[in-house]
Amino acid sequence: MQVSNSKMPVAILGATGTVGQRFVQLLSNHPWFKITTLTGSSRSQGKTYRMACDWRHSSPLPQAIQDLVIQPVTPNLDAKLVFSALPTGVAKKHEPELAKAGFVVCSNSSAFRKQEDVPLVIPEINADHFRLISSQKTAQDWKGFIVTSPNCTTTGIVMALKPLADKFGIEKVFAVSMQAISGAGYPGISALDISGNIFPYIPGEEEKIEEETRILLGTISQGKKHAHELSISSQANRVDVLEGHTASISIQLKKKSSLENVYEAYQDFQVDEDIKNLPSSPNNLFILHKTPGRPQPRIDRDAESGMAVSVGQIRPCSIFDLKMTTVIHNTIRGAAGGALLNAELLVSRKLIPSDE
Ligand code: NAP
Repeated sequence: MQVSNSKMPVAILGATGTVGQRFVQLLSNHPWFKITTLTGSSRSQGKTYRMACDWRHSSPLPQAIQDLVIQPVTPNLDAKLVFSALPTGVAKKHEPELAKAGFVVCSNSSAFRKQEDVPLVIPEINADHFRLISSQKTAQDWKGFIVTSPNCTTTGIVMALKPLADKFGIEKVFAVSMQAISGAGYPGISALDISGNIFPYIPGEEEKIEEETRILLGTISQGKKHAHELSISSQANRVDVLEGHTASISIQLKKKSSLENVYEAYQDFQVDEDIKNLPSSPNNLFILHKTPGRPQPRIDRDAESGMAVSVGQIRPCSIFDLKMTTVIHNTIRGAAGGALLNAELLVSRKLIPSDE
């Protein structure tokens, strides 16, 4: 769908960081959006993107933005839509200022994910939570608004749980994550701590997985989020993998199911037509593996250009009902790609007012 003849001007906040660079890469040839503004910390402000940014992708630094000068974050950005890849504390200050000034903020940070009138959305899972936008604008008296995308690990877990929650109901989840180094941003964890090692502590991560899973699978009414009642416990580990978060998940269903019916739940899962047609939507949301030993982060993270979740090792669990392994690309579907899909859906559902 071509929404307009002219591309919408967009800003990337935190454009020099791990997620910011991914935004630059994904937005560089985007059919609807044009990067007009890049921001960074005082370390980078006033420098060209080429000078400020240590580009860490094998694809070349896009020509069109190399010479954009890094700006501070102010409510005078030359953009309509803002993608935020700011650290949480910085996002807490700037994202409301921008929403108040009339910008639409699609955020990757955790700053407002739990706020009751800020949608936390994965389009294929809970696009109906965008209904919170109008309550947010009214309650906050903002001209613009904030929409958030979930924590990277939570994204993969929730995508894998959703078809089962819909078909059988879910009572309990136990999830152990094995998270890539890039999930900690740049420079992230020290090489001496992670090389050939597993680091069994990621501050705040287990709480995010548990709380955000319940929000994403929950409902909204009267301008508020109502968390799903499932019990969930998680353990988060940083592992010596560059990109791609893996999770081992055990699930207790409300209604018992055969493994055959579990596979069917994934095959039958329906995604709204308008979401399927968005530029960044994957053709297949789930890549189901029946071969033992899959999925693996190095082999499977790039499935559907990093926008699918890979699910495998589905088998009976002797404590709960079933267990499985999932892999998600943490900086694409789990970060920049997820926020971009939110923005595309906001445009296609006309939730971002058009200038025309
Ligand atoms: P990062 O690599 O550390 O990048 C942080 C970015 O924020 C840099 O561009 C930095 O600019 C900028 N910044 C830092 N302090 C600032 C300040 N005081 N004012 C303005 N800009 C400032 O972090 P990241 O991994 O990209 O993460 C960004 C956000 O996304 C975080 O909230 C994180 O939790 C979230 N997230 C990350 C992932 C992931 O896989 N990495 C996944 C999901 C969500 P300079 O380079 O100029 O200092």
